[in-house]
Amino acid sequence: MINLYELLESANGQLFGEPSAQLFDGFCVDLDDIQPNHIFVVLSNEHGDTHQNISEAIARGVKGIICTRPPECDTQGISVLLVRDTSAALLAWSRYILGKYGTKVIAVTGFSGKSVTADAIYQILSSRYTVHMNLDAGIGRLSIPLSLARLRATHKFAVLKLNLIEQGDMGLMVEATQPEVAVLTQLGGSQITRFDSQDSLIDEMRLLVDYLSPSGLAAMNYDDEWVRKLANTTRAEVRTFGLNTFGAAMMAYNVTSHSDRTDFDLRWGSERYTGQSTPLLGAYHLYSVMAGLSVGLHFGINLQAGLEIVRNLRPLPGRMYPIRGAGGALIMNDTYSANTRSTLGDLDWLEAVKRDDQRAIFVFGDMEPPEANSSRSHEVVGERAASVADVLITRGTNAAFAARTALSKGMNPEQVHVTYADRDALSILTEHYALSDKDVVLVKGGPYSRMDTLVRALLDGNSDSDVSQLSQRQSGVVPSSAPVMPDRLSWVEIDYDAIAGNVRAIKRLVGPDVVVNAVVKSDAYGHGAVMVARTALFNGADYLGVSSIPEALELREAGIVAPILVMNFSPPHLIRQAIQHDLTLTVYDIDLMRAYDRIAREVGKRLRVHLKVDTGMGRLGALPEEAIDLVRHLLNFRYLETEGIYTHFSCADSDPEYTRLQLENFRGVIRPIQATTGFKFKYIHASNSAGTLAFPEGRFNMVRTGIAIYGMHPSDTVQLSPDFKPAITWKTTVAQVKTLPPGHPVGYGNTYVTRHSERIAVLPVGYADGLRRAPNNWGEVLIHGRRAPLIGRVSMEKTVVSVDHIPNVAIGDEVVLLGRQGQETITAEA
Ligand SMILES: *Cc1c(COP(=O)(O)O)cnc(C)c1O
Repeated sequence: MINLYELLESANGQLFGEPSAQLFDGFCVDLDDIQPNHIFVVLSNEHGDTHQNISEAIARGVKGIICTRPPECDTQGISVLLVRDTSAALLAWSRYILGKYGTKVIAVTGFSGKSVTADAIYQILSSRYTVHMNLDAGIGRLSIPLSLARLRATHKFAVLKLNLIEQGDMGLMVEATQPEVAVLTQLGGSQITRFDSQDSLIDEMRLLVDYLSPSGLAAMNYDDEWVRKLANTTRAEVRTFGLNTFGAAMMAYNVTSHSDRTDFDLRWGSERYTGQSTPLLGAYHLYSVMAGLSVGLHFGINLQAGLEIVRNLRPLPGRMYPIRGAGGALIMNDTYSANTRSTLGDLDWLEAVKRDDQRAIFVFGDMEPPEANSSRSHEVVGERAASVADVLITRGTNAAFAARTALSKGMNPEQVHVTYADRDALSILTEHYALSDKDVVLVKGGPYSRMDTLVRALLDGNSDSDVSQLSQRQSGVVPSSAPVMPDRLSWVEIDYDAIAGNVRAIKRLVGPDVVVNAVVKSDAYGHGAVMVARTALFNGADYLGVSSIPEALELREAGIVAPILVMNFSPPHLIRQAIQHDLTLTVYDIDLMRAYDRIAREVGKRLRVHLKVDTGMGRLGALPEEAIDLVRHLLNFRYLETEGIYTHFSCADSDPEYTRLQLENFRGVIRPIQATTGFKFKYIHASNSAGTLAFPEGRFNMVRTGIAIYGMHPSDTVQLSPDFKPAITWKTTVAQVKTLPPGHPVGYGNTYVTRHSERIAVLPVGYADGLRRAPNNWGEVLIHGRRAPLIGRVSMEKTVVSVDHIPNVAIGDEVVLLGRQGQETITAEA
């Protein structure tokens, strides 16, 4: 319960307008989490600003607002508090409410294992006391006040996870919570953090242990060298715990992992407790158990009693939570979070429990920030996976590094699958491997990779409670409307499930006898060549098309073995590489063909080629009369293997008559060749996306589809069916907002001049990023779900838009340059 006047006083705030409601049930920061009698907390910090969400929050029923500047919308009937810094204000209130109820705080911190540790402490203490615990940690220090809104006067203890996200967090959280007990789980083992250095992280942690009073307790993981370093400065009693480590006050040993429990013996001082067990899985969870026991001891719960509770602990949803899934397979859901340390711990478990007659399948999604962007972290996992898993399935761009490493460590390529779309990871599991009770499937990934959706899809119909557990667990972890300021100034988001669906739609359209060549040239039209290529190959494409040899080599480098047609000029000095990597080249000129043949003979391996015919586009290709002649030569070059013949339409999307003429010209080349030489091309192809859609007769036995894969209409007249979906969204953020006086020019060349006083937003994106420069004032972007026109000339990396008609635009607001925002869309076609 939150009292308006207590909040006002403790947070040193100011009322804006007349107060209305005075008692509230909770705080909320995320529009999607709003409940009726809550206070909406506006965030305005280095991650962004949510003042823009105030009116929507009111519309969704909040009764109070706490913010840093007066709202610009109508706040009649709402209690509005103004403070300097909302998160500092809420922490001040946290301190107040803990003091008011006299609740003692047990602070749990570290990089992983916090939730399970907090839960173990909570369960053990709850056997004797009334205890509060904060459930969600994904929002950093705000999780403390958010949770304390549920604190009651009867709560003797509050178990609070202190989630360190950035430098400075710990000092603020310690001040707010004044802990009596600190529990440190794990600090080392992460490949990268957001702290200046590992030492500065330790300094931050030291604030917590040094705060403790002599009557307090520091419960510490003795096996973590970084935690150990903190043991000597605190005034509190130190209680260490370790796994098989002599020197720790409490030690678990004789650990054996099973698929449904972990058995262990416990030593504490001279006492021994043998034959213990817990349903928590993964030996590393014994740290959580020992932390719980240590805290219990401090508050008078003896080990016998504590171990009894440990025997009945339940795994938390999403943290090594076992589920019977499809075919009776054991699915281990560990998708709540993922860093290197916890992932390696999971693989240890997999290695320990897997019986010889079982198959160990490891499904791995991108880890969480900041490790999410570290290829090195993912490689470390891949190396371990290679020695543990029989099958490795990765989902996502960084998880793919794990697959690459696993392959380089000798894992069988047939059992390594790199995917980007959910549905692909799922169909490999269910169709390719047909799960059975002989399978142990470990699913692991960070919150943003949403691997829980995959687990959900794997569940048998009979696990309803698991399903509801699963759907609860992500709330608060991935903020949907809370600000997340991106690292880049402009970026694209790709929906690979959309790509997968589009390729399937094309394959359905052309049928089993026509090969789909997925055109992924120019980095797959900006969608990521490797990712699109893999996704297309999983969903019905059997050939890939690129422009140049280097583009093809990028795909080979990533381990893609499908045939690749290079559709542009291939300079002779690259032909060796092309042959070594088994590429298919385009030929159209006798001198080049001769050079290619000579090099192939030197290499001692034939080069596959397709002859390109210019049937009317006037671009690359041999003219029809030459083409017939060239084929005769081609058949005489012993080191050139003629696999196909093709042409390209110039107006399949606009001029059916001309396209029919091109088709006729094309047939006029193929017919005499077959008649005179008897040669049959393996592949005959002509159609791009527009041709594929509009001219079924031009499909022959291969189509080369580009734009349709990306879900874009070839033209106004040749349209995709509703089965297709665009896959790309291009975004940037607001860099500055200001009001220009009348008559003020904007941008290079002063091509735009304000007529009246005009509010503008500067965007940190420009033509270097691909936002076209000319003509002046050519388009619009989306801000707050509304259209904002470009004004003035687009610069290399800056652009200006008018936001006169859009209230509350602020620095950090999301801007959509391409794609959907709210109800509005800017299509690539437009
Ligand atoms: C780019 C390209 C395609 C694909 O064209 P879309 O219109 O994007 O489907 C097909 N064939 C060739 C030769 C190309 O260069």
